[in-house]
Amino acid sequence: MPASSSAVQELLAKLVAFDTTSARSNLEAIAFVRAYLEGYGIASTQIPSEDGKKASLFASIGPAGKGGIGLSSHSDCVPVDGQTWSSDPFELELRDGKLYGRGSCDMKGFLACVLASVPLFLSRTLKEPIHIIVSYDEEVGCTGIRPLIAQLGSGLPQPRAIIVGESTTMAVIDAHKRIDTYRSLVTGREAHSSLPQLGVNAISFAAELIEEIERIGTALASRETNDRFDPPFSTVQVGTIEGGTATNIVPKTCEFHWQVRSLPEADPDYAPKRLEAFAEEKLLPCMLRVAPTASIETLHQGRVPAFRAKSGSEVVALALALTGAHATSTVSYGTEAGLFEAAGCPTAICGPGNIEQAHAADEFVTTAQLDAFMAFLAKLAERLSI
Ligand SMILES: [Zn+2]
Repeated sequence: MPASSSAVQELLAKLVAFDTTSARSNLEAIAFVRAYLEGYGIASTQIPSEDGKKASLFASIGPAGKGGIGLSSHSDCVPVDGQTWSSDPFELELRDGKLYGRGSCDMKGFLACVLASVPLFLSRTLKEPIHIIVSYDEEVGCTGIRPLIAQLGSGLPQPRAIIVGESTTMAVIDAHKRIDTYRSLVTGREAHSSLPQLGVNAISFAAELIEEIERIGTALASRETNDRFDPPFSTVQVGTIEGGTATNIVPKTCEFHWQVRSLPEADPDYAPKRLEAFAEEKLLPCMLRVAPTASIETLHQGRVPAFRAKSGSEVVALALALTGAHATSTVSYGTEAGLFEAAGCPTAICGPGNIEQAHAADEFVTTAQLDAFMAFLAKLAERLSI
């Protein structure tokens, strides 16, 4: 029998109450998970971040040794800044079958289900272990899981497969796009705005670069396509921009952040290479004629690898069997799945909640989705039992 939904909701309320926005420490939330597991006699390993302000966690239930299925979640969530919420985002609230709270969907709901299933896992005689994995800094480039993955097979047991519980409304995901993030910095020359010919307007040149990024986006739409994805092509997006000091000064600097979401089979360097060529051929000559110190610099800031399960993947078949679905799907968002897969752990993505509610104001997960995932975990325990 799956654990009662009240146990899941109680755990979810506790997890939501920890403000684990990526910029903050997650140590209190990890301590809570650790203490909860200890209460059931389960030891866990904490892998601290370099600055010691965050940690990931790895715990195993069942026979020690190799193999087993890892249930992987991230503890961090996105900020609530600038969002209008109908209730306190850090106080779980149930309205009409929906549990509202930051991270309720992405992805504390999954973790609450996993924790609530611990008594059930313990009541079984497992043939192979179930591993509980909790990371940090997933929302800022999937960086927090990397030190933990580096220890799989050495300091930590290597699971034979991983289920990443991102919000898929219980669909089984076997592929996602790759994400590359970039920072472009335009340096021009300051001048009095009455004498603009003496300056190099960094904002204007940044605007030209951004227009080129838009053209790159149009070009990407007709390069590689894959109908399994929505949209079925690679995309680009400028996310933030900052520059200038006053309206009467020709701005010296302007920087903007942008990203590329590439199909797994696409060339991820097409966009940055084309932008660099545009900058060097079309913009820099004009800038340098006025200011020899002018420059355009683009830095690659982060990468979340694409995820593509191998054909015939056992864990994908297992997830399909547990959900009763007959076909897999893909998503356009990034997850830790590509990192696990690259580390030799076959992975599938499947979890409760709808990604449309993730990151948004009034984020919620339905109790029906949590019930569905509890049933998934109960079936998993049954399959792994003697
Ligand atoms: Zn997530």
